[in-house]
Amino acid sequence: LEFRHLSLPEKLSSNLHSAGYESPTAVQMQVLPVFLCQRDTMVCAQTSSGKTLAFLLPIIIHIQNHMTSNPACHVPLALILAPTRELCMQIEDQAKELMQGIPRMKTSLLVGGLPMPTQLYRLSKGVQLIVATPGRLKDILDRGGVILESLQVVIIDEMDSMLHMGFQEQVLDILKHAPDDVQTMMCSATIPSAIEKMASSLLSNPVYVSL
Ligand code: AMP
Repeated sequence: LEFRHLSLPEKLSSNLHSAGYESPTAVQMQVLPVFLCQRDTMVCAQTSSGKTLAFLLPIIIHIQNHMTSNPACHVPLALILAPTRELCMQIEDQAKELMQGIPRMKTSLLVGGLPMPTQLYRLSKGVQLIVATPGRLKDILDRGGVILESLQVVIIDEMDSMLHMGFQEQVLDILKHAPDDVQTMMCSATIPSAIEKMASSLLSNPVYVSL
């Protein structure tokens, strides 16, 4: 199976090709149909499995569909939370690569070490996708700089690292600002009981994908 055999939107398909992605990895093969069917998902996979693309593809398809029928929409539709600034930057870079040339798709990178006024200004102009670390997003939320009420998709990447770094409370606080029925995916390299507990409080009837 190759990406070009899936009926993906044309521009997305050509962006995949230009980025050198030809065939889905095993995790992508499993996650794509589940997530496209709008089920909550728990993904247990190592980094380098291709899980980033597995969540970016459905997010981009979702935003593109939404913006085609609601072109004036300027509230964030999707949120990706990741534990470190470097990981957020990599995810945003990959997202931008895949979104190139698709109209009405703006991303916002909310991480520490970058000036907050610039982040707030960009948010005020309207973005569809936020990639953030929990600390900086919580700061911005507390200042009223972003509204998460219209989120449709939330990804929590590297949940195990989030726990090790003590971000559990911040993640839970942030998700209280999202709608109850938001579609959520949690990724983790392992699923110890603390992660299982987070999954059962944040995911509704999830499909487990394990590699
Ligand atoms: P990740 O697990 O998301 O960190 O991805 C690990 C690496 O695999 C990244 O450098 C991706 O660019 C690459 N990658 C992801 N999906 C594919 C694919 N379908 N074909 C080739 N490379 C891929």
